[in-house]
Amino acid sequence: MLTLRSELSKCLQTRLCRRIPTKGISASSEKRQFISDDAGKGERVYDVIIAGGGMIGGAMACALGKSSYMQGKRILLLEGGQRKSTDILFSPPNFYSNRVCAISPGNMKFLKNLTAWEKIPRFGTVRKMQVWDACSDGMIMFNEPNMSEDLCAIVENDMIIASLTDVLNTQLQGQVEVMYESKISGCITPRNYALDDTTTAIPPVTINLKDGPELKTRLLVAADGVNSFIAQKALLSKMKWDYNQSAVVATLELHEEIENHVAWQRFLPTGPIALLPLTSQRSSLVWSTTHEHAMELLSMSDEEFVSAINNAFWQEHHSSAIVKYVQDYATRLFSSNVYNAKQYPPCISSVSGKRASFPLGFSHAIKYVKPRLAVIGDAIHRVHPLAGQGANLGFRDVECLLRVIEKAVYGGEDIGSLNHLLEYESERQLGNFPMSVSIDLLKRLYSTDFSPIVALRCLGLMACNSIPSVKEQFMAQAMK
Ligand SMILES: Cc1cc2nc3c(=O)[nH]c(=O)nc-3n(C[C@H](O)[C@H](O)[C@H](O)COP(=O)(O)OP(=O)(O)OC[C@H]3O[C@@H](n4cnc5c(N)ncnc54)[C@H](O)[C@@H]3O)c2cc1C
Repeated sequence: MLTLRSELSKCLQTRLCRRIPTKGISASSEKRQFISDDAGKGERVYDVIIAGGGMIGGAMACALGKSSYMQGKRILLLEGGQRKSTDILFSPPNFYSNRVCAISPGNMKFLKNLTAWEKIPRFGTVRKMQVWDACSDGMIMFNEPNMSEDLCAIVENDMIIASLTDVLNTQLQGQVEVMYESKISGCITPRNYALDDTTTAIPPVTINLKDGPELKTRLLVAADGVNSFIAQKALLSKMKWDYNQSAVVATLELHEEIENHVAWQRFLPTGPIALLPLTSQRSSLVWSTTHEHAMELLSMSDEEFVSAINNAFWQEHHSSAIVKYVQDYATRLFSSNVYNAKQYPPCISSVSGKRASFPLGFSHAIKYVKPRLAVIGDAIHRVHPLAGQGANLGFRDVECLLRVIEKAVYGGEDIGSLNHLLEYESERQLGNFPMSVSIDLLKRLYSTDFSPIVALRCLGLMACNSIPSVKEQFMAQAMK
């Protein structure tokens, strides 16, 4: 990201020959009329307010706070929940949280640039990934040659939030204000303006807190999660549907110590079950299944739960004649190209800590921005966890929005003007929408045991597994 920023800076300096605004100068004078300067009325007008201090809002606050373009700007992070202790970074608990995320190499780099990554004391590394179908022999294996590079890291969500909080506490105290237990209960965003309207002073966004003062901002960045209050108030319509599934999560102990660097995912007709490596003897479970089965899994004894997991990974399913015919044909067709034989995941011996379940659904907003409003993370897109992409897409939103804001500040533009916020919207829609739709299609494709579909997906999976360039394309997208 730093390279990108310096490239952008070089490009702007050489081509446009404009002056970089220095500390305290918010905009060039000829553009100042676009900014409603309510500060004169004694109100608190922030340059940017970020709503929601989850992983994505926290990263946005750090990214803005660290940006040299934002020096002297008033930045506020509002989080509805309580301040979380950062002690887990310095003395990690013996147990692992059941909420983890697979973080792509591109986003590890992004978090490194925020100096947040090096604060995370522990994470698992994935060097190989096996995805296979319970209803056929179809499988695909992803790995870098010789398993030398990490495909992703498995990190506890709490660790990511704590590391971002620590950056805010220790490095950005004078730069980013943070208010905890500050739930936004009201928000008025300006109406839409014509893009070429250069005369109207666009009023700031007004924010009301459940308990607290009224706040105003030139740009509101909404990172308030999947049920975003702000996206609703701003009438940003979304395509959305429920998957009628819940994901059961837990931390599992392996039967024996192994070199644990493989992520396993098996598609069962009820939904995918995934085992993600944490340590040599621990993995994290994400089991997406029907709500009823999820409830059953939560209420089982530890022994029953462990045995259900082992069965889900190991039990053979009956294949119909047509599926057998197609898979024999595919095996003959692709066997010369296939270098990876199917393997089986490690045996689970016990479960440690609590289990939990989360309802799953899809949503994608048609628009990401309005005048003085940009929405990021789950507040704008929600995907099925089967590809481990939700937070990864959110971090890419942050990177893109930061670039767009920096460019506006550098050019002396109004930080909340639609003209540049639309750049963020177009770029991220191109990244988020195809990925979200692909994940949705994958989920649908694997939600059936109807033989002709099983036969087709078996053929598809075996074909993809045998063509390195196809696999490289998949990996390149997921590892961004
Ligand atoms: C089972 C499961 C597994 C997953 N696995 C992966 C994975 O492997 N890889 C991956 O990339 N993603 C994964 N995801 C997705 C990932 O967890 C989410 O994309 C990510 O947590 C979204 O972060 P966020 O900050 O946008 O939203 P949230 O985490 O929901 O944070 C929103 C924040 O806003 C605050 N807030 C809400 N309303 C208000 C308000 N009115 N005022 C003030 N504050 C407010 C909340 O308190 C919260 O702190 C998974 C999801 C699930 C359910």
